[in-house]
Amino acid sequence: MTDKTVGRFAPTPSGRMHLGNLFCALTSWLSARSRGGSYILRIEDLDPLRCFREYSELMEEDLKWLGLDWDEGGLADIGPSKPYSQCDRSDIYEQILETLRQKGLLYLCFCSRSELHAANAPHLSDGSPIYGGKCRNLTEAEIKEKLKKRGGATRLIVPDEDVTFTDMCYGEQTQNLVTHCGDFILRRSDGVFAYQLAVVVDDALMGVTEVVRGRDLLDSSFRQIYLHRLLGFEPPQFGHHPLILADDGRRLSKRDKDTDVGFLRTRFTPEQLLGQLGFAAGQIDRPEPITAKELLSCFSWDKMPRNDIKIDAAKFFD
Ligand code: GLU
Repeated sequence: MTDKTVGRFAPTPSGRMHLGNLFCALTSWLSARSRGGSYILRIEDLDPLRCFREYSELMEEDLKWLGLDWDEGGLADIGPSKPYSQCDRSDIYEQILETLRQKGLLYLCFCSRSELHAANAPHLSDGSPIYGGKCRNLTEAEIKEKLKKRGGATRLIVPDEDVTFTDMCYGEQTQNLVTHCGDFILRRSDGVFAYQLAVVVDDALMGVTEVVRGRDLLDSSFRQIYLHRLLGFEPPQFGHHPLILADDGRRLSKRDKDTDVGFLRTRFTPEQLLGQLGFAAGQIDRPEPITAKELLSCFSWDKMPRNDIKIDAAKFFD
């Protein structure tokens, strides 16, 4: 075992990156590299209908443009844990799923999206309803009957237990899995492996020691820590950063053209953009041009704001 930091950026190539994605890449790179750690670029292309290679290519180009580098992964697929694209890792996910199945921890769920939303369950912050366990005790005969009509999603049974961790930015966090989420999906009914399963298996098998990403994924960390432990892995450290929002408080989306990296590259040099991002993240006192390498010596989680960062596009582009 080594105590070397291993960080990662794990984007989903479902569109050109936006400013928020770039901020995530930068923060995760600074966090790992400022401790002398190594860095992995993993491509989270689980969903074949949403992910395209051309976006992965653009993503690599955009990261390089900004001055970020990685030691493993990417489209070149270099490193001891390859493949680094999730679409090529199905056999690994299936094997792990089988170990859970054999322990009796999984069951098939046939609830449709509308049934789930209609079930009156309160909703998680990401909009998904808390699952009450409706399909947990179906009989073999009922399952057989339902399978004639549609495939089932595979859910993991969760215990009535609190999961606690200390976030590098937001401090101590606790959540009860039953009251906040319920049995969660590890494989969708269309056969696609769920993000929660893939991310845990990959972070563990790739030796990732710190997971740095936007605070919109903080809620997922409880499920992921639980799954790490269930599979006998040591969970990584987690650091969630505030989100970059539009000046009206709106979440950025890959459809917003004015924060799309393609557009930003026509307006900024990498150093200008890094100066703006470094300043917004509290790492430097003035939004003056700076390189990614220069930002390394300034980086500290203590300086990271806890509140989301509103970007006033008009001012930002002055
Ligand atoms: N693939 C996810 C995304 O692009 C990030 C997952 C993670 O960092 O755990 O939002």
